[in-house]
Amino acid sequence: MTVLAQTQDSRRIRFAETHVTEAAQEAVARVLESGWLSTGPEVTAFEAEFAGLVDASYAVATSSCTAAIELALRALRLAPGSRVLTSPLTFCGAVHAIVHAGLRPVLVDIDPTTLMPGPEEVARAVQLCGGVEAVVVVHLAGHPAPVAEVAEAAGLPLARIVEDAAHGPGIRVGDRTVGAISAATCFSFYATKNLPIGEGGMLTTDDPAMASTVQRLRLHGMSADAWRRYLPGGSWRYTVEDAGLKANMSDVSAAIGRAHLREFRHWQERRRQLAARYRAALSSVPGLVLPDDPIDGTHSWHLFVVRVTPEFGSSRDELFDRLAAAGIDCSVHFIPVHHFPYFRTVVDASTLDHLANTDMVAEQLLSLPLHPHLEDADVDRVCEAISDCHHTSAVGGAASRTAP
Ligand SMILES: *Cc1c(COP(=O)(O)O)cnc(C)c1O
Repeated sequence: MTVLAQTQDSRRIRFAETHVTEAAQEAVARVLESGWLSTGPEVTAFEAEFAGLVDASYAVATSSCTAAIELALRALRLAPGSRVLTSPLTFCGAVHAIVHAGLRPVLVDIDPTTLMPGPEEVARAVQLCGGVEAVVVVHLAGHPAPVAEVAEAAGLPLARIVEDAAHGPGIRVGDRTVGAISAATCFSFYATKNLPIGEGGMLTTDDPAMASTVQRLRLHGMSADAWRRYLPGGSWRYTVEDAGLKANMSDVSAAIGRAHLREFRHWQERRRQLAARYRAALSSVPGLVLPDDPIDGTHSWHLFVVRVTPEFGSSRDELFDRLAAAGIDCSVHFIPVHHFPYFRTVVDASTLDHLANTDMVAEQLLSLPLHPHLEDADVDRVCEAISDCHHTSAVGGAASRTAP
């Protein structure tokens, strides 16, 4: 078709792209020259700046968002084996974190319109499993999750909620910035995320006890990190009172993070524009369900996830392949965790047969290319390729209906 012919000479549209800014490269060179590569003054400065970005009192930098979630759960000091509710439509690492914290994941079905568990689904799952001690709430794709309503439906205070904001920063629930709504909020600086470093994470909170516990737990449970011990007047002495992780951030990473923070608002604005362009061009394609634009809050547009329903005429897999052939890379977020054999052995079994909405949408989800370096023309090309696929499937469908 025309799309296929065009692609021979047009640029491949990547699902995500990471551009390390010149300022970030200069900042890395400065840190390398300083000779201090591990957790030090850059991390401290990055933590302060990031806390400001998300309106939190404290920010603790970690090696990943996965580690931040595990550390937050460990800091809650729940009894071993306590049940922790979470969405099956999330990244596997977020559920591994629950397991590694010595706790038992309970999966709760999603609302197909937001792709996240709502209060009704949560109340039902809690009834099925007999109660949970904590919830990991994911703001999927960057859509604000109803954190307070979920906590209430689970019968828990906000102090027992951990937010997975790997698809932020830049999310608001109502007029509250996601960062200090619950006990701890966990962010990712993985290469494709909204504030990319390559690898890294951050835990933010308003609770000083949570912040100081995680500060120790991220570095072997030691009472003072190396930077503090070598500061003038610092002591070589430290104590260990907990089984900590090795999950600190290096000053090299923090330097990239600080430089990219300066681009963040501009990158977010670009994501918002591109999402609006997708919406305008795709809203009339039959059978394609577009992501909800939150009425109450702010979407960070980490992902633009559409649902390819039967009315579209082609399956998600067919559309994915057609777009790939047209030089357009898409992705799928996510394969539900209970579709992986490992998780079926570790999650609480009581809700496993009650995940029908998740199973239904799992075959329909498609994440379109979205990153701040896309051109308007790239979005137009993606939308044309999708419309093309719909039209040719519609013709094929009509032909097959006339067959005997
Ligand atoms: C990327 C991601 C994570 C993990 O982030 P890392 O920093 O790579 O550990 C966790 N949850 C969700 C929803 C993610 O997309």
